Order: sequence, then structure tokens, then C-alpha cells
Amino acid sequence: MTILRPSRRDILKMSAMAPAFALSAPALAKVAAPTNGQSAGYFRFSVGAAKLTVISDGHFTSSARDIGINAEEDEITAFMVAHFQDATSHYEHTNHVVIELGDNKVLVDVGSGNRFVSTTGRMLENLSASGIGEDEITHVAITHAHPDHIWGIRDDFDEAIFPNADYLIGATEFDWWMFDDRVNLVDASDQSMVVGAVNSLTATGQQLTRVGNDHEVVPGVTMIATPGHTIGHMSLIVESEGHSLLITGDAIRDPYVSVERPEWYAQIDMDPETTVATRKKLLDMAASDRMAILSYHFPFPGVGHVVANGNAYRFIPALWQWNQG
Ligand SMILES: [Zn+2]
Repeated sequence: MTILRPSRRDILKMSAMAPAFALSAPALAKVAAPTNGQSAGYFRFSVGAAKLTVISDGHFTSSARDIGINAEEDEITAFMVAHFQDATSHYEHTNHVVIELGDNKVLVDVGSGNRFVSTTGRMLENLSASGIGEDEITHVAITHAHPDHIWGIRDDFDEAIFPNADYLIGATEFDWWMFDDRVNLVDASDQSMVVGAVNSLTATGQQLTRVGNDHEVVPGVTMIATPGHTIGHMSLIVESEGHSLLITGDAIRDPYVSVERPEWYAQIDMDPETTVATRKKLLDMAASDRMAILSYHFPFPGVGHVVANGNAYRFIPALWQWNQG
């Protein structure tokens, strides 16, 4: 027997038709503030012929102490104060991106939906505000299976949120989380993360393809292995007309700490030594090849360049332009 039930998409469609929603929706200015009236939830830029739209899923905070567990607390405090940052609470944006190239629309990560913290889960709302339909997404590339990147893969009805997309994730990443009895092999405090990852990776409705290093998602978009933050973490490279962009995921996480103190590793970095080695390699590549970078947790929209600076690097944000179409 087939049980008919409205999907979240149906409900959203119904909601969109309701007058109350129509009234509250602002005129679609390019920089409308769709979530809280304070700031834009999407940002467009281009890399050669590729059109990119950064889509915010929101933000959350973590412990500033945890971002450099191999550094002295005094050192972290001094670093944060010198960068006009909160010395205790680390504010993390969550920046997804849709890459439009040829006939393809590739989304990187799916956010956390309503399963993580209340300040995240804005991606679908902001995607809609940007004018990109959920059914237009052709590919979803998952960098890794942490809550803020994958827990939103299914909706409240357990359906995959992008019905027409091919889903891709690193084979190493998939296999690590899905390893038999993984939940009992991790610390008690990490068990909910494992359960959430397994639930997301096994959600009905989406077909996940496990990919290896240097996997071409579509012409001009490649997934590369950038392990450390998680065992099978992957980043993406967008190349078009001689321009390139490195989408770092969490391999580079903070525009000041990760760039100026790349040797510091965080509580959440699963393999500290590999995290640092990968990060230095990526920073070197971006600086030497003058690649733009886009990082998931950088201040929105998280796009810019890195340049060498002594023994480390410096982040230069891209200039925000209000009139990009
Ligand atoms: Zn993250």
C-alpha cells in the first residue's frame, strides 16, 4: 500500500501560497535579508564562466580555547584580542556554495537542517531567496559527515532534500563513519555525532556515490582528498577560463587562526598531524597559484585570497560587490 503524505516541499509550496507569507516576503532585492532582517543570506560571485552563489546556513559558536588545543591558553587569548575577536567564544559562519557551470548546479554540503543548533538550518530559505530551486540542484558534494555539513540531508519526512541530485562523498569518509560498531569505538561525547552521520548517510531517497581523490564531479569541478579534520575530508576545486577557486570545507576553518597559525589544531580535528599538514599544503597551493578560497566557517561570504606572510599566511577577503547579477 502506498501511503500518501505531504513532503516538506509540498508544505513549503502551500505556505508560499498563503497570504500571510506573501505579505511578509520582502521585494526580491539582490541583498534582501531573508532570515533575521540583519544581513543577506546569499552572495554571488564568479570564477571564469562559473557562477557561484554562497548560501548561508546560519552560524553557531564554539569554544575559542578548543580551536588551538596545542597552544597555550594565554597565546590564544592574545591572538584573539589582537584580531579583535572574542577570546572565549568562537563565532562560526556556515557558508554553502552553489557552483553553476554549464548545465550543472553543484551544491557543496547540505547543512544541518533542524537537527543541530537553532541558529543553523537556514540554507533552504536562503537558497530560495537567491532564486535557485531545490529541484535545479544536479549534484551535492559532501566535504565530510560532521553535523553542520550533513545532518540536513533529509527533511522531517526523511526524504532527501534535493530530489534530482547525485550525492557524492569521499569513500574514505563514508567508510569511516559506517564502520561496524563505530559508535562504540568513539568517546561517549562523540557518539551522537556518529549516530547522526550514520542516519544521514543511510537516509532514504538519495543515492550516495563514494568517490576517491581527484574526482571530477562535473567538468571544471573536482573533489580532492584533504584529510585530517575528518579521516576522509574532501575539498573542491573549481576551474574555469584560467581562474580557480579552492573550496576548503573545514580543512581551513578560521580566516585568522588557520591562516596565521596553521600549526594549531582543534579539539574537533580527528587527526591533528594530518590536519596541520593538509592545511599547510592547501595554503601553499592557494598562495602560490593565486587561487581564490572559500571556507565554510569564514565570516560570510567567506571568499578571498591568501598570501604568504613570513612563515605563515594572511587572508585577504574578496571585495563585497552589491551589484553582481
Ligand atoms: Zn564544520
